[in-house]
Amino acid sequence: MDDSMTDAHGRRIDYLRISITDRCNLRCQYCMPAQGVPKLRHDEMLSYEELLRLIRLLVSMGISKIRITGGEPLVRKGVLYFCENVARIPGIQSVSLTTNGVLLEQFAEGLLRAGIQRINISLDSLDPRKFASITRRDCFDQVWRGILKASELGLSPVKLNAVVMRGVNDDEIEDLARLTFKDPFHVRFIELMPVNAEEADGLFMGSDEILGRLSAMGPLSPVNSSHSNGPARHYQFQGAAGKIGIISPISHHFCPACNRLRLTADGKLRTCLFAAHETDLGSTLREGASDAGILRTVREAILAKPEKHALALGGVRKCISRPMVAIGG
Ligand code: SAM
Ligand code: SF4
Repeated sequence: MDDSMTDAHGRRIDYLRISITDRCNLRCQYCMPAQGVPKLRHDEMLSYEELLRLIRLLVSMGISKIRITGGEPLVRKGVLYFCENVARIPGIQSVSLTTNGVLLEQFAEGLLRAGIQRINISLDSLDPRKFASITRRDCFDQVWRGILKASELGLSPVKLNAVVMRGVNDDEIEDLARLTFKDPFHVRFIELMPVNAEEADGLFMGSDEILGRLSAMGPLSPVNSSHSNGPARHYQFQGAAGKIGIISPISHHFCPACNRLRLTADGKLRTCLFAAHETDLGSTLREGASDAGILRTVREAILAKPEKHALALGGVRKCISRPMVAIGG
């Protein structure tokens, strides 16, 4: 990697999360309001060709790991075409996808063929009724079938992401963790980021408490993970096939090791999840910028990447500037 991907704080940026759509077939309470959020117009979203051009340029600068996310990435038409073309870009070491799993049963095989090596599936509850109340859609069985299909096909590791909410699904921490006993699932517990501050009031549970609950289940040892791109801390129960991950954006923020950029479906480059500032790379591209011009704009954005997030200063909502569904997590 050349120096153009090192930021002003010495961090090397090699990981890009691309949100390919702001649409979603679920309405998770912590991610968006029940009525949904204003949607991008079709012409505001970058086409796959436009996204691929930006990705190629970013890869030429040193991005080597890509995660495709949304909204729900599997609802965008042509997603397999896009994944396949991303995976073919020389210089990319891994292409992964984050999905809510609703359409995964039908897409898993295609994703594997398209070159997706790793998949993260959101799963906040094993109880279909609770799942429906958190996601505001009755889709647990579909999601579970998708998880089994991905696992049968050998997509590995299959990571299951649970956002922990006190009094909502924290009673399932142990049941979710037990999924790692027999099968090689990675179950990752994520601290709730209080994007809708009033709704999240009282729901936050810190990772130390989550870890305490897990440790009470039996011997749990820290492990190194070769699959890690970042912020999760990994553990394993003695004799378990799978692993546990703990992601604590709030209580142990991981800014000093942050290696990521985010690109939204309308072409905004974000250097920090919790920053209001975005660089309008999509407009730069559509105004006819040369490759060199786009690279220069990216370089300037990287140099301005904040040293750490400002949650403590402004409150999450003020910092984040758009709903999570329009960023991609
Ligand atoms: N729709 C896909 C999904 O749900 O996996 C991909 C997009 S979603 C925005 C990406 C990730 O962000 C999910 O794992 C989701 O749980 C997480 N997420 C969304 N809102 C969050 C919040 N307020 N706090 C913590 N995680 C959140
Ligand atoms: Fe949709 Fe994912 Fe947000 Fe849930 S977390 S509403 S599935 S984008």
